[in-house]
Amino acid sequence: MPPASDTLTTIPHFIGGRAVVGVGRFGDVYNPATGQVSARVGLASSKEVADVVAVAQAAFPGWAGQTPLRRARVMFKFRGLLERHSEEIAVLISAEHGKTVSDAHGEITRGLEVVEFACGIPQLLKGDFTEEVGRGVDSWSVRQPLGVVAGITPFNFPAMVPLWMLPVALACGNCFILKPSERDPSASVRLAELLREAGLPDGVFNVVHGDKEAVDAILENPDIKAVSFVGSTPIAEYIYRTGTANGKRVQALGGAKNHMVIMPDADMDQAADALMGAAYGSAGERCMAVSVAVTVGSAGDEMVRRLIPRIEALKIGPGSDAATEMGPLVTKAHFDKVRHYVEIGVSEGAKLLVDGRNFQAPQGYEGGYFLGGCLLDHVSPDMKIYKEEIFGPVLGIVRANSFDEAVSLVNSHEYGNGTAIFTRDGDAARDFAHRIQIGMVGVNVPIPVPMAFHSFGGWKRSLFGDHHMHGPEGVRFFTKLKTVTSRWPTGIRKGAEFIMPTLG
Ligand code: NAD
Repeated sequence: MPPASDTLTTIPHFIGGRAVVGVGRFGDVYNPATGQVSARVGLASSKEVADVVAVAQAAFPGWAGQTPLRRARVMFKFRGLLERHSEEIAVLISAEHGKTVSDAHGEITRGLEVVEFACGIPQLLKGDFTEEVGRGVDSWSVRQPLGVVAGITPFNFPAMVPLWMLPVALACGNCFILKPSERDPSASVRLAELLREAGLPDGVFNVVHGDKEAVDAILENPDIKAVSFVGSTPIAEYIYRTGTANGKRVQALGGAKNHMVIMPDADMDQAADALMGAAYGSAGERCMAVSVAVTVGSAGDEMVRRLIPRIEALKIGPGSDAATEMGPLVTKAHFDKVRHYVEIGVSEGAKLLVDGRNFQAPQGYEGGYFLGGCLLDHVSPDMKIYKEEIFGPVLGIVRANSFDEAVSLVNSHEYGNGTAIFTRDGDAARDFAHRIQIGMVGVNVPIPVPMAFHSFGGWKRSLFGDHHMHGPEGVRFFTKLKTVTSRWPTGIRKGAEFIMPTLG
């Protein structure tokens, strides 16, 4: 039985350096392994959002006025605290998201790498300088912070995705408002507490929980200069259109349908192992999960033969159990949706080789949202299960006759987040990397998530906007460019000139 609402913990917002319990509407937070409500979270009203923006706005001049070196030192301390508290945060994530604790550790590590990148902000903000663009005239460019910026993040990486944004935004001198997913909101509050402990001034980083009302209030607030969004494609497109119509800079990363191409010359065991982790790790709830295996020629039968026993042997259970390889799905609604996709696949004519729908949850977890791994063969491009993102432990196999057919299949899909090719043929691998219309490409690497000092982002309907996340693109997104041209000494006189000024 879910606990009575008056005994539930309320997950607070974090505003102006302290925890603030919401007023008004609340949402339930579930433990996906048991199906029980574990806490409730305030869903901010537009008035609450406006108040947070005012707090961040007041903190901006002080924070932007700190030297990059001082801001870097806060990031250094934050990095140490994050590492020290990673087990505690990983357990929090697992309890609200469902992923295994070891997987949650992995996402914290990837987020921590962005903090490490942001520690280099004095170097990253170094401008360009040209001496003598004209006689006695020098010119230089600097990047300055935007002001108050916001991040709106999805459920599937409650620590990593906020950490794609906030270290870079803060190090650049901005104030940040995070609106995390209301499904697993606790990790973000812990991040805020650690930032404060690291010496971040109050009001510079704030967390406000909520749903559409809070998001719309962010998109409409004129004091928010930029919005960084990660989530599903329909919402990403809405955020991009509404945010830019309101004059904001927006980067909005959306959904995915990532293909892994397996050539007949690939190391088949390596490819099968890679597919297992990429398709079923985190129950397929990763934007870089592989959901389509494109097997070329004889690779199809080779893969099927290897995958079936591996999927049947998957260890499925609560994320808190160290032996678990795959946890439950995040909510009952999502569980029903993914299960329904399997039914659609069967009705569309795909061959269901492994059916995870009747998976028996371990004792004590009968109410959890567990779905066994599913494998559908002979999926074709006209099927709904091929066109749409399923975001669950469901892998489809599309059989292609040639390398060219595989490439054109990947290029024709509306999503363009990630892809990979498994082959021993260097020519094919190079040709693939060159021709493929996808933002992130792996060669014998199934989930090619770029490191923090590169930038993360897809193409086509997987990203709306011009900037990818973190790395050099992150610094560009969270700053504006200023170019100064100055004449010293002032004594070089030419008299009044009425033509377009030229130097040189
Ligand atoms: P989602 O789009 O439902 O939610 C993302 C955020 O938008 C949340 O903070 C949510 O509160 C808010 N939101 C939801 N509905 C809204 C609405 N109608 N109006 C305004 N705001 C709204 O996504 P999700 O289910 O939390 O996350 C899974 C999705 O995120 C998948 O599609 C996945 O591919 C995608 N994702 C993409 C990347 C990437 O880098 N491209 C990374 C992680 C996740």
